[in-house]
Amino acid sequence: MFEDLLQRLGLTDRNAGACGTSWIHAPGDDWLVAVNPATAEPLGQVAATPADAYERVIEDAQAAFLAWRNVPAPRRGEVIRRLGQALRECKRDLGLLVTLETGKIRAEGEGEVQEMIDMCDFAVGLSRQLYGLTIASERPEHRMMEQWHPLGPVGIITAFNFPVAVWSWNAALAAVCGDTMVWKPSPITPLTAVAVQHIANRVAAECDCPGVFNLCVGGTDPGERMIHDRRLPLISATGSCRLGTRVGEVVGRRLGRSLLELGGNNAIIVTPSANLDLALRATLFAAVGTAGQRCTSVRRLIVHESVAGELVDRLVAAYRTLPIGNPWEDGVLVGPLIHENAVVTMMRAIERAKEQGGDLIQGGKRLDRPGFFVEPALVRARPDMPVVGEETFAPILYVLTYRTLDEALALHNAVEQGLTSAIFTESLREAERFLSAEGSDCGIANVNIGTSGAEIGGAFGGEKASGGGREAGSDAWKAYMRRQTCTINRSDSLPLAQGIRFDATAP
Ligand code: NAD
Repeated sequence: MFEDLLQRLGLTDRNAGACGTSWIHAPGDDWLVAVNPATAEPLGQVAATPADAYERVIEDAQAAFLAWRNVPAPRRGEVIRRLGQALRECKRDLGLLVTLETGKIRAEGEGEVQEMIDMCDFAVGLSRQLYGLTIASERPEHRMMEQWHPLGPVGIITAFNFPVAVWSWNAALAAVCGDTMVWKPSPITPLTAVAVQHIANRVAAECDCPGVFNLCVGGTDPGERMIHDRRLPLISATGSCRLGTRVGEVVGRRLGRSLLELGGNNAIIVTPSANLDLALRATLFAAVGTAGQRCTSVRRLIVHESVAGELVDRLVAAYRTLPIGNPWEDGVLVGPLIHENAVVTMMRAIERAKEQGGDLIQGGKRLDRPGFFVEPALVRARPDMPVVGEETFAPILYVLTYRTLDEALALHNAVEQGLTSAIFTESLREAERFLSAEGSDCGIANVNIGTSGAEIGGAFGGEKASGGGREAGSDAWKAYMRRQTCTINRSDSLPLAQGIRFDATAP
């Protein structure tokens, strides 16, 4: 049905999954099958990267780094400008492939590619702004400065639910910072990764910079190889909190750097003064958009008891008319979950919520059709229910009520994760308190917009079990470079800092 699309993106039934300066085809490949979650039918196969292919990829990335680090940053920016242009040209096709492989609707699939383009634009500008500071020295005729150098080949591990955008958050920054990279995508979404690698390869060939963008498709292996590998000074890992714990431990043991973008358990607080129309629309997008499979999806709605009745009634009515269906069809807003296991996990979480005293007030059933479709669920819950503290990667929204803002903030911050958060209020005081040091403890805090759908210009990431990493905008680029503090003496004397005297004479 979509053969033409796959062909236009350079994909065949069976694709190599390892790429350094060229694609590596190994005999006896172990094949990963990409499945369309809306039909449960296979889309194509990609070879997992065996140990010897991994070695070749890393060697290519290392060798390319030696040249790439010396390319002036604005010229590196030109490569990323061309990458952005190539992505513009295939936005529809790549967006549709994202839809087919992840089940997210067309608008969101194309939105992901737009995010890649935005990241490229951002990085092009950044390539002329990798600023260091000049620092006043306490010593006469001395100058101090900070400069930023490329770090080395960077390991990028990504999750299934943003199969291309998260690569670009890392890749665009790493490339202008002078790093080469090795990408290990989710084994659930290998086709989009191969398609992106084809695009990156074309740009690298045009710009004569082979080995900057490299790929190692696979699961825990080659993932474990990467996190243990001292040749990768930075591992940027996006995924579950469990993944982050593992990456943090292993990379920490070798004193490498890790940049962790992990799970969330995000909440929206709705206060008595809130514009309920806005709160309703934002909650819907954040709760059921991407079928609840965003790290930024809202999982807890903390509503003031005076408005809870009205808001919940309106949510139930909206949930009842949600267009659920094939994500590539016009008008559909909710596609399938990613696989069978995700459906089972969602159903188990709903059962546990009921056992723990929750009340399923809407949805929560599997749809009787091929693929992995569910009805998004609304559950009236109590904060002490253990399941409310977990990130179930599915469209389950727990509704909690509160009386005072103190209570709402305590509930809000009571979970292990700290990714993103929002408050709906018309009260300046409430909004400012939410944004203050005693307010939301998350990496992202919004007022009168929902928890999901961040722009790339801000640094993206969360606190606590959400990992502490920051990617995309602001000064996130600094994670991809090494800082060097330099002191330059233009005098004939050698004064020491802190006034220390050390008058040894040379013979
Ligand atoms: P996951 O943790 O199962 O897998 C993520 C990636 O880690 C995959 O590529 C996987 O193969 C790899 N991996 C797993 N074990 C590994 C190991 N031992 N060594 C090396 N690599 C290993 O996550 P998922 O199910 O693909 O994605 C959903 C999760 O990701 C959710 O928790 C979601 O919140 C989170 N997520 C976070 C962000 C963010 O920016 N904070 C963005 C997207 C997704």
